[in-house]
Amino acid sequence: MIANPLLRRATFSELFGLLGLPPIKGTSCPCPFHEDKNPSCSVFIGANGHEIAKCFKGCFCGDVYDMYARAFRCDRKTALMELNHKLGIAIATFQLDRPLHERFQPAPKSTQRDERLRPSLSLGLGDNRMVVDLSTLRRIHEGGVRLALERGLLGFGDYMGRPAWVMKDRSGMLMQARRLDGRTWFRDTKAITLKGSDANHLLGVQEAAEADLLFVCEGGPDMLAAHALVHEMALLKAADPLRIAVTGLMGASMRPRRATLAGLKAKRVVIWSHADEAGRDGAKEWKRCFWSKDRTVDIIAADEILAGLKDLNDVVSAEGGLAAIIKKLMEVRHG
Ligand SMILES: [Zn+2]
Repeated sequence: MIANPLLRRATFSELFGLLGLPPIKGTSCPCPFHEDKNPSCSVFIGANGHEIAKCFKGCFCGDVYDMYARAFRCDRKTALMELNHKLGIAIATFQLDRPLHERFQPAPKSTQRDERLRPSLSLGLGDNRMVVDLSTLRRIHEGGVRLALERGLLGFGDYMGRPAWVMKDRSGMLMQARRLDGRTWFRDTKAITLKGSDANHLLGVQEAAEADLLFVCEGGPDMLAAHALVHEMALLKAADPLRIAVTGLMGASMRPRRATLAGLKAKRVVIWSHADEAGRDGAKEWKRCFWSKDRTVDIIAADEILAGLKDLNDVVSAEGGLAAIIKKLMEVRHG
């Protein structure tokens, strides 16, 4: 397991809430595992910096995941997955032995752009509040937002005096900012591509070099939704998250540069098309750009998954949407 500052741990307070037990007052509480009139369970910070609970009758000593495992009669690994999922904590990296971004080797550099021409904005990982706000705004699981942060495809910053979420990648060739409060920058402008950006850059292309399955999305909201999908597939053990990369073009009229695609070994490409004319036309063009002998390229439009919906974000946030997408992915693969 890796120590990842983006991933917080569950707390005993949260677990007690989940188990329907009275809240913990101070540092002791009734032991959940024996009939306990006087609080004989103590909660303290252990030597490793994590919360530990210990019953002085000797029936339990361990951390919050040990307690969950005991309460639900499962193993610790299952406890990690389930409890974190119930609390909206990202789980994807708990199974990893090293951080995701190190597993994705950069593709060979193509044309070198002048550093001075690149977009610039000071970006950070944000705080827990921002992660929650963005996941609420986009109606997706927090784990998806954290996964995008962790992979370096999302950052938080201030733009024109407003808190913003920004899609970007390691190359620094393209940054696109949207307001964290969900409002427009001015008139109908929801997203601003920062000055100096290469609008046709495929975001995340370097990070995707080692993946087997490559998602291509239109726009930032769908890129985030795709991360929520990867997170869900990892949770269901439907796929190894390390083998799936998320990339995106910031509009249907953009075209990925063939030279930058040369470094991609991806065998399977899935284009998540918007269900509108521009989206469908764009997806067809993208398919041509991505096509090569060693790749399969499929287009899946939002309304082929759930009728009436426009984009991947709509489907991911719809009831039953994630399950419908995973089913559709299987059909397309075997169809
Ligand atoms: Zn006890």
